[in-house]
Amino acid sequence: MSAPRSARSRVLSGIRPTGDSFQLGNYVGAVRHWAAMQDENDCYFFLADLHALTEAPEPDKLRERTRNAVAQLLALGVDPQRSTVFAQSHVAEHAELGWILGCLTGFGEASRMTQFKEKGGGTVGLFTYPVLQAADILMYQADSVPIGEDQRQHLELTRDLAQRFNARYGDTFTLPGAYAGRAGERIKDLQDPTRKMSKSIGGNGTVWVLDEPKAITKKVKSAVTDAGREVRAGEDKPGITNLLTILAVCTGKAVPELEEAYDGKGYGDFKGDVAEAVVELFAPVRARYAELVADPAELDRVLATGAERARAVALETMTAVRERVGLLAPRS
Ligand code: ATP
Ligand code: MG
Repeated sequence: MSAPRSARSRVLSGIRPTGDSFQLGNYVGAVRHWAAMQDENDCYFFLADLHALTEAPEPDKLRERTRNAVAQLLALGVDPQRSTVFAQSHVAEHAELGWILGCLTGFGEASRMTQFKEKGGGTVGLFTYPVLQAADILMYQADSVPIGEDQRQHLELTRDLAQRFNARYGDTFTLPGAYAGRAGERIKDLQDPTRKMSKSIGGNGTVWVLDEPKAITKKVKSAVTDAGREVRAGEDKPGITNLLTILAVCTGKAVPELEEAYDGKGYGDFKGDVAEAVVELFAPVRARYAELVADPAELDRVLATGAERARAVALETMTAVRERVGLLAPRS
């Protein structure tokens, strides 16, 4: 008998351990929502270390970043008592289900994923990563995934694969939807506000969650701004719009309210305030992170507990999947 499934909605999300720190966009677009949704949902949050391999990281670095990412999640309010926090590679079934789903994915279908096209080619791993991502989601029978606009196409693929599998082999997978409660803020690179801020891009346009206050202030104050002097949002002002979004998240105020407050003031005052707000937002996170990272054994325990909980669900899914696709069960 399987354990009774919680009545709460199941949510799954992941982050790649691709940088020495999370960046501001990860907080705004993902992790702050994770922390907020824990009470009402049955949450699975994972460090996508297999997905990080598409960047060919240095092995010791990847290990260190994976552990440090756990400390950052906890410092940002993810609670491993309420949520299942685990490393993707600790549940070997992800790769197995990725393969099985890959055998249901058309080559043309995978080729249409725009992210691969945008990157202009790369490894087979990068090409098939949306299929592994589908496996990550379907494994846990997630009802919804909090995704950004860039991931919408991948969620569609996940749903198509789930439907195809269910039609061919019998009802097995829950069809996941997009998590409704998530606001769609995308934080842009401070030096190039036409592209999103990313861990793997880094540089002066990226504010790290673990940056020292001085570094944050310097980066925000030297953010690329737009022609004119007015502090207002608009398509013609991607730099100021981005900074307004950041200030709105930090202060909990709406953008129009901020536009009004900065009416008649220059970019200098505005940027100073944005810098201060981000510094204040991350100062306690940095302090908490320093405490957590000083105890790596405890972080490993968090991952071990998470992996155990995740494996139980994964095993249940995979026992059904193996049987349905016709894999001979090993004798025990
Ligand atoms: P990488 O460059 O390695 O892809 P990343 O910064 O894009 O790193 P991911 O690990 O790919 O981070 O994504 C983790 C989560 O953060 C995802 O939910 C993603 O949608 C969100 N996210 C990433 N960048 C931003 C951003 N600039 N604004 C809002 N959300 C973001
Ligand atoms: Mg990314």
